[in-house]
Amino acid sequence: MAAAASLISVITRRLEGKVALITGGASGIGECTAKLFSQHGAKVAIADIQDELGRSLAETLGSSNTTYIHCDVTNEDHIKNAVNKTVATYGKLDIMFNNAGIADQNKARIIDNEKADFERVLKINVTGVFLGMKHAARVMVPARSGSIISSASLASGIGGAASHAYTCSKHAVVGLTRNLAVELGQFGIRVNCLSPFACATPLATKFVGLEDESFENTMNLMSNLKRTALKTDDIAKAALYLASDDAKFVSGHNLFIDGGLGICNSAFN
Ligand code: NAD
Repeated sequence: MAAAASLISVITRRLEGKVALITGGASGIGECTAKLFSQHGAKVAIADIQDELGRSLAETLGSSNTTYIHCDVTNEDHIKNAVNKTVATYGKLDIMFNNAGIADQNKARIIDNEKADFERVLKINVTGVFLGMKHAARVMVPARSGSIISSASLASGIGGAASHAYTCSKHAVVGLTRNLAVELGQFGIRVNCLSPFACATPLATKFVGLEDESFENTMNLMSNLKRTALKTDDIAKAALYLASDDAKFVSGHNLFIDGGLGICNSAFN
């Protein structure tokens, strides 16, 4: 009986003994991933700028397994501190999820867009990921293992799904991922990114300008699968796969979670 219980625990707790740091972990996809990683046995550090939400999530998940760290991903000292604090608290860093990101409200044509608005998107979505990768690598290289995952988007593979700044930033996340997979592979570090279609989080509903239910109905119509819209849980499960040893030979990959939308244009159906 005890053996069966321990076997079930091994099967169901796919991150037992692992330590994860999740940026943008206080809301949406990051929040859902923090919960899932925690259920699967990982110690989780949640890094965000929304301190109240982040602290409350860490408390809910349990202070012995979860911690909240204030961290603006555009600030190198913050990222460095988040990585150092995670290692000081839990002894190591196995999984870095560079998930923090923004979608700009500025849908203007390029000739109307301001340089500062364009740069703001790139600073969070690209520089933030670069800094996360850099400081994760700093501790993963000596450890000779690790999984770095970043949030890209359906907009990483096609044009016109979002603003030009957002599309540009998510293409850049794929570029960083591919280069780092080559550079860090020799140290046993896998580097991948996730490219979801739209799911109802504060970022996406604000960007599209629709509330949860009408947001999902609209997205259902656009999806090749023509069914229930993507949930944060679907993305968290993809992150779980890439974080776990199940993906031990998967690196340099951009995993689309989009019902085939990015690759197979549904406009002809
Ligand atoms: P969200 O707004 O719910 O969560 C984003 C989190 O990032 C928030 O908690 C926010 O406080 C945090 N954040 C923003 N700027 C930050 C900064 N400078 N430093 C630290 N944290 C910061 O949005 P989400 O939908 O969960 O988005 C998560 C990631 O997924 C983003 O990178 C986004 O581009 C990507 N994505 C989302 C969707 C979608 O439909 N929701 C689709 C494709 C990709």
